Amino acid sequence: MRIDKFLAHMGFGTRKEVRKLLKAQKVEVNGTVVKDPAYNFNEKEAIVKVKGVEITYKPFVYFMLNKPQGYVSATIDKYYPTVVELIPFHREIFPVGRLDVDTEGLMILTDDGKLAHHLTSPKKEVEKEYYFELDQPLEEMDFEKIKTGIRLDDGYLTKPARLLGKGGEKKGTIILTEGKYHQVKRMFQALGKRVVYLKRLRIGGLTLDSELLPGEYRELTPEEIELLK
Ligand code: URA
Repeated sequence: MRIDKFLAHMGFGTRKEVRKLLKAQKVEVNGTVVKDPAYNFNEKEAIVKVKGVEITYKPFVYFMLNKPQGYVSATIDKYYPTVVELIPFHREIFPVGRLDVDTEGLMILTDDGKLAHHLTSPKKEVEKEYYFELDQPLEEMDFEKIKTGIRLDDGYLTKPARLLGKGGEKKGTIILTEGKYHQVKRMFQALGKRVVYLKRLRIGGLTLDSELLPGEYRELTPEEIELLK
């Protein structure tokens, strides 16, 4: 691979930015300073250092974002800023699954299509956990209804889900194994309640890092990536 392509792929900026880095003699391949953007090398074997720090080749990247409200789960949109714009990484990443514009919380962004498919395929039934707040208190019968399945406005019967919380309270968590359009909101709508706040807390074995404020992100650790597989 060319060194300029490699560095851009590893998140060091656009090709133009990367060329500046090379010109400034900040890049070494196997102990030798490389200035030529077209320099070709075997990225799987070479030791590359940028400003003295070794870079490990990563075929894929994985980020955890605490999605803020007001951002759309897409790579491009006419009306809203996208979640991709929150992660200034020069590699084509995309959000795994969708959260509504006004929903917050755990969003994974990656360029690993296989993992994205695994997490979103209805057949895999990967759990998604949400914290919600309602305009009306939960009723005892809501727990049983959510457990057995709710008939949505379009006639779809939801798969068994788990509702955690207490009757009489206006908040709780819900665990789904599917992700129909506006599913949580439509399930509560069918129970006569309106969701006023929604935040995703967990996808499969991966829980949102409580240190991340809305809009903040970090790379997943290798252990966290394993939890998702
Ligand atoms: N269910 C919803 O209604 N909205 C979301 O963003 C996610 C799940």
